[in-house]
Amino acid sequence: MSKNLSQIAKSKKIKYFLISFVDLFGVLRSKLVPARAISDMQKNGAGFAGFATWLDMTPADADMFAIPDPDSLIQLPWNKEVGWLASDLWMNGKLVDASPRVMLKKQIKELSRKNLVMKSGVECEYFLISEDGSTIADKRDIQSKPCYDQSALMRRYELIKEICDSMIELGWNPYQNDHEDANGQFEMNWDYSDCLVTADRHVFFKFMVKSLAEKHGLRATFMPKPFENLTGNGCHAHISLWDGKINKFLDNGDRYGLSKIAYNFLAGVMKNAESLSSLFNPTVNSYRRINAPPTKSGASWSPSSISYSGNNRTHMIRIPDPGRFELRLMDGSANPYLLQAGVIASGLYGLNLKLDPGEPLSCNMYTDYKNYPNLPRLPDDLEESLDMLNDNKVLRDAFGDHTIDSYIKLKKEELSNFHKEEIFDKKSSVTNWEKQNTLDC
Ligand SMILES: [Mg+2]
Repeated sequence: MSKNLSQIAKSKKIKYFLISFVDLFGVLRSKLVPARAISDMQKNGAGFAGFATWLDMTPADADMFAIPDPDSLIQLPWNKEVGWLASDLWMNGKLVDASPRVMLKKQIKELSRKNLVMKSGVECEYFLISEDGSTIADKRDIQSKPCYDQSALMRRYELIKEICDSMIELGWNPYQNDHEDANGQFEMNWDYSDCLVTADRHVFFKFMVKSLAEKHGLRATFMPKPFENLTGNGCHAHISLWDGKINKFLDNGDRYGLSKIAYNFLAGVMKNAESLSSLFNPTVNSYRRINAPPTKSGASWSPSSISYSGNNRTHMIRIPDPGRFELRLMDGSANPYLLQAGVIASGLYGLNLKLDPGEPLSCNMYTDYKNYPNLPRLPDDLEESLDMLNDNKVLRDAFGDHTIDSYIKLKKEELSNFHKEEIFDKKSSVTNWEKQNTLDC
């Protein structure tokens, strides 16, 4: 018997529930439902018109229903009257295949056939900016190497503390907060979990940071590259596979502490990286961050080629510690569910085929890339990554042709809207279109 939300509302004094879901573009949508109606909503879901969101539907389609997952309940730490719920989408009595949370759950199920669970942690970088997004919020944050700047961090103490206290209260086990490599940029880290929990928390984290920033008179953005001369917002993920309490990625006999299946899984991600980029770097603006020239701080901290290494941040995949790897491809606009789902789908392919990633590289890829002319490079723009996705059988098999075709169709429509106003040129400034369409990603 699943948790009874109506009873929980009474015991926790929740007056309203946000029944929410994330569409294909990662937009968080919801209905605010009074506790008196939650019993019925828990069973039958909250109704939405799919066409009004980034899902490939028509205005003639039947209502789609978001059925909340009671295990995802988060009582807003800054407004305890409200409980947030992640939901799965249903239509005509069936799950919606193109619902990102449903897509992730399907991949989790595939992995469970091998008795494996993916655990992951995400590093969500964000900027605090001015109301119109034209500059960073802190005028005194001007160091050329601003990473870990204590004074700039402490000028934001009240906000950072409120976000971190919230995570402590929610039991996420946050453990560090810092000023990142760009002026105005911050990162906050909490413990890794089963990937569905991490994906739900990732969605909530972005909502929480934006909401609390507003409360403190600021604006937060996860946009991949809001300022062309500064380091962008990455969303690195740390990945491991578990069987119960055993980390199946751990092998202390290996030079980096990774098992054979970890290398197979990692090789699957590398093999599909160009196509994955359409999910992990899903906006026009994303391609200012990958394949990018050095920034004011000296490095972009984002990958250009598809390579892996030990504890070396210039490669797409880094192995920082035994038993896990870090994928550095994703940016702040990545859909939290498609991020995890894409890693599982491509990693499983590597596992099934026992793919070999080849020898790791230990060079400084930012300076030595010319010595590796045969390494595959990441796509240069969104169009290229969508074309790669279109031709990718692994991701088509994992998510279904209909879902992949829908995603490509919607993204190409977005691209054509961009091209009506602008040309994508990494050497020129971030366009107004990019800001208008990505600042709130
Ligand atoms: Mg970082």
